[in-house]
Amino acid sequence: MNAPLGLGPGSRLFEARRKVLPKAVEGPFRRFKWLVMAATLLVYYVTPWLRWDRGPYAPDQAVLVDLANRRFYFFSIEIWPHEFYYVAGLLVMAAIGLFLVTSAVGRAWCGYACPQTVWTDLFQHVERMIDGDRNAQIRLAAAPMSVAKAGRRVAKHGAWLLIGALTGGAWIFYFADAPTLARNLFTGDAPWIAYSTIFTLTATTYVLGGLLREQVCQFMCPWPRIQAAMMDERSLTITYKFWRGEPRTHGVKRAKDAPALPTGDCIDCDACVAVCPTGIDIRQGPQIGCITCGLCIDACDSVMTKLGRAPKLIAYTTELDAQAEQRGDASVPALRRLLRARTLVYFAAWCAIGLFMLATLDGRSRLDVSVLQTRNPLWVRLSDGSIRNGYQIKIRNLEARPRTVELSIDGVGVLWREEGDRTSATRSVRLTLEADKVAKTRFFIAAPAAGPQRQDVRFTVRALDPAGETAVAASHFERPEAQP
Ligand code: SF4
Ligand code: SF4
Repeated sequence: MNAPLGLGPGSRLFEARRKVLPKAVEGPFRRFKWLVMAATLLVYYVTPWLRWDRGPYAPDQAVLVDLANRRFYFFSIEIWPHEFYYVAGLLVMAAIGLFLVTSAVGRAWCGYACPQTVWTDLFQHVERMIDGDRNAQIRLAAAPMSVAKAGRRVAKHGAWLLIGALTGGAWIFYFADAPTLARNLFTGDAPWIAYSTIFTLTATTYVLGGLLREQVCQFMCPWPRIQAAMMDERSLTITYKFWRGEPRTHGVKRAKDAPALPTGDCIDCDACVAVCPTGIDIRQGPQIGCITCGLCIDACDSVMTKLGRAPKLIAYTTELDAQAEQRGDASVPALRRLLRARTLVYFAAWCAIGLFMLATLDGRSRLDVSVLQTRNPLWVRLSDGSIRNGYQIKIRNLEARPRTVELSIDGVGVLWREEGDRTSATRSVRLTLEADKVAKTRFFIAAPAAGPQRQDVRFTVRALDPAGETAVAASHFERPEAQP
């Protein structure tokens, strides 16, 4: 009987993973990758150490997610929990920005700036420094275990773990004052969550960047599957010009020995495959494993230069330009390629959200009040026959300085603090607010029993400073149901 699915004894359902050991390469795309790697790592590691003076009542760290006080600081911008829609807006802008970049220049994010790409590239560079370039790594992998091989393995994995620890270490500095936390980490006084976060991020960085590498892009990340919806025939992508490269000549010698044969420019040297960080052969056409890093272009261009042939056998190009080149026509002008309905819509949406957020950030109120009426009991009859209601009032002072404000009511009765007494009741009270804090105070309002069962009452908070900023909240005053 035939084996199901044609599987015989010893067959496997999945092909075993072939470890990708990319060869070092030089060229413009490699230099650009170095530049982006340096910039992104610099931003990541240095940002928590930047200082920003906000006065004596707020932290002086330029970028800080202050979980304890529920604030997000970004240079001169401070986001409170009730303003979280700004963070949501930033995330939407990031997503639209990614759509825009993908539709214009293909998977540039994947190839250059994605953290998985940057850290994998860094890990591979460390691997080459310790084990040697691709061929040396292949020889080392095949060699029996020895003291020298074990030493290299320990050095490589130790270096990867150190990078992982530095990555996790830098991350926690975004959530607390960086210099203080750094001191506490070394003296053992940091909270356990700091140590456990470093441990977790060290492990994930080591596993994702050192062990899984290209498999994250090919099998785990959803973005390669989604991005096809943003790309069209005018999006840049890596293209092997098969009409120029085929039929292949299988080696430099044959190309030189038989120049008269009708051969293509590709000499089947596999240099483009050897440098590919995801281990694919771009000559098989566009594929999900291609992160469009351009390293195969660098490798092939250097081969073409050595052969004295025109470069760009593999190139960044659009489907339309590739077809035009094949026909011998002129390519689409770069501006026309970029300015098309899809990119313009993404750009307009990105600008609109950004401008709206900037405008509202600038004009947002720095004083806020909210009122919660006590429901149990809803009302109390006082000894003089009047009715009393209770309220919890929260006043947010969003300024990084103390402020004096006046709280007043319109519509009904007089108010006093819960801990005070009725004799101090008035229509307005003065309060001193701490800088950058929420003041919670319980108040009573009393009014004559005669009146509507439910009456509107308006609470107004006015800052007693030259700006005179005000905030208003509406609530109700409840009386017992009138007896027939
Ligand atoms: S095929 Fe070329 S562009 Fe694509 S991932 Fe490999 S080296 Fe980078
Ligand atoms: S590097 Fe260029 S010449 Fe060599 S196999 Fe790749 S496409 Fe062909």
